Amino acid sequence: MSAVLEEPMTATTENARTLAGRLSAGSVIRANEPLGRRTTLRVGGPADLYAEPASEADLAAALTFANERQLSVFVLGRGSNLLVRDGGFHGLVICLAQPHFTRILVNGGRLECGGGAKLRDVANEAMRQSLAGMEFFEGIPGSVGGALRMNAGAYGSEMFRVVESLRFMAYTGHAETVPVNQVEASYRSCPFFKTHIALGAVLRGQPGERAAIKQRMNEFSQKRWSSQPKAPSAGCAFKNPATIPAGKLVQELGLKSTRVGGARVSLEHGNFIVTEPGAKAQDVLDLMALIQERARTERGIELRTEVQIIGEDV
Ligand SMILES: Cc1cc2nc3c(=O)[nH]c(=O)nc-3n(C[C@H](O)[C@H](O)[C@H](O)COP(=O)(O)OP(=O)(O)OC[C@H]3O[C@@H](n4cnc5c(N)ncnc54)[C@H](O)[C@@H]3O)c2cc1C
Repeated sequence: MSAVLEEPMTATTENARTLAGRLSAGSVIRANEPLGRRTTLRVGGPADLYAEPASEADLAAALTFANERQLSVFVLGRGSNLLVRDGGFHGLVICLAQPHFTRILVNGGRLECGGGAKLRDVANEAMRQSLAGMEFFEGIPGSVGGALRMNAGAYGSEMFRVVESLRFMAYTGHAETVPVNQVEASYRSCPFFKTHIALGAVLRGQPGERAAIKQRMNEFSQKRWSSQPKAPSAGCAFKNPATIPAGKLVQELGLKSTRVGGARVSLEHGNFIVTEPGAKAQDVLDLMALIQERARTERGIELRTEVQIIGEDV
């Protein structure tokens, strides 16, 4: 049986209908899928085509289809480090949200995690298994795949410190598992995953006391929520320059709570841009450009965005 297209048929859904015909029934295919609600910033336009493959075979078939039709492909995690422009994404957005990719299997002192598994679920499973070292995932609202691409980190640790091996798929559809030392990662980036899809990872923990692990998670959570806004954001907007944390720089430039349309710099944290209902992606982009301009002209610092930006302007 083939996947069900969850959209009424129009001329623009032709690609979606054909793709749905090639994938199994467990896969989800949609046309003109709004992406704002799939991001923590809550802004931005739709994806022409959106797919949640049910298996590696379906993912490979979706990539083959995109190659044949020369469609751009973007892999969406939980959208917590992502800004989609208001005109949306013209191409195929793939999200590993189906159960095959969200599983977390326990294997001795290791967790075998799918690329779509939530970091919070990973942290909680590690705690249940008395595995220390993954407490820092608590409060990072992303997926394992997004954390691999971004080498996500907090409180002195980062993703690549706990990874033992990785499974990935090239855009040709070829899948492979490799030890972590074959893939390079740096501060908030793993360039390998610009050109490969993270299917999953084996994460290694250290034997620990469950109560102590729980306590560390609680401490991290308290620290986080006393210094971060609750309003919609994509986490840190900018990478920290070598000389000063980006949030401190924004504060020193007197830009805290500066507003453009429905976007403003958070009062709680200078490196967070938060949005209000009705905000546009363009408001966020203009506010980021304003901050970058002030950092450049007043301090000679080039602020590089940490948040990933995709799509087209309106
Ligand atoms: C309130 C808040 C707090 C945050 N705190 C932190 C923090 O403490 N530390 C930190 O590092 N980050 C933090 N972030 C940012 C964000 O949560 C992380 O970068 C996270 O790893 C992104 O994961 P995601 O699944 O949401 O990825 P997305 O935002 O969906 O995507 C980010 C990038 O990863 C790529 N990607 C996603 N999945 C895959 C995949 N399977 N294969 C290949 N590429 C993929 C996307 O193509 C994109 O380029 C925070 C964000 C918010 C909103």
